[in-house]
Amino acid sequence: MKILGVEHIGIAVKELDECIEKFENALDLKCEGREAIEASGVEVAFFGCGSSKIELVTPAGTESPISSFLSKRGNAIHHICLRVEGIDEWLAFLKEKGIELIDTVPREGASGKRVAFISPRSMCNILIELSEDKP
Ligand code: ZN
Repeated sequence: MKILGVEHIGIAVKELDECIEKFENALDLKCEGREAIEASGVEVAFFGCGSSKIELVTPAGTESPISSFLSKRGNAIHHICLRVEGIDEWLAFLKEKGIELIDTVPREGASGKRVAFISPRSMCNILIELSEDKP
């Protein structure tokens, strides 16, 4: 059970195409892929950024949980994702500490990774995602 690093920083955006173009042209980052994640109601685009990534997240459909975030805050940093080893043990450990979890069991994230979100209510209003690579 270890934190291995920052997997990615998630940024909520309204105009995915426009933002992809901006990140590619202004920062010379390469979009490494786009993916609709039905379980989360979002579409994401990833950019490699050294040993970490930047993830642009936009709502897929009208009932996406990210829609209300965007209407309140506009384009903004949405979450920090930590790459972990032993995500199931992490969730049990956090639960035991009384930390509120959005996902009590991991769900499927981008690239088939196992991910789980910790409630911002328990983390100083910061949304934290845990991610474990496929074995
Ligand atoms: Zn993420």
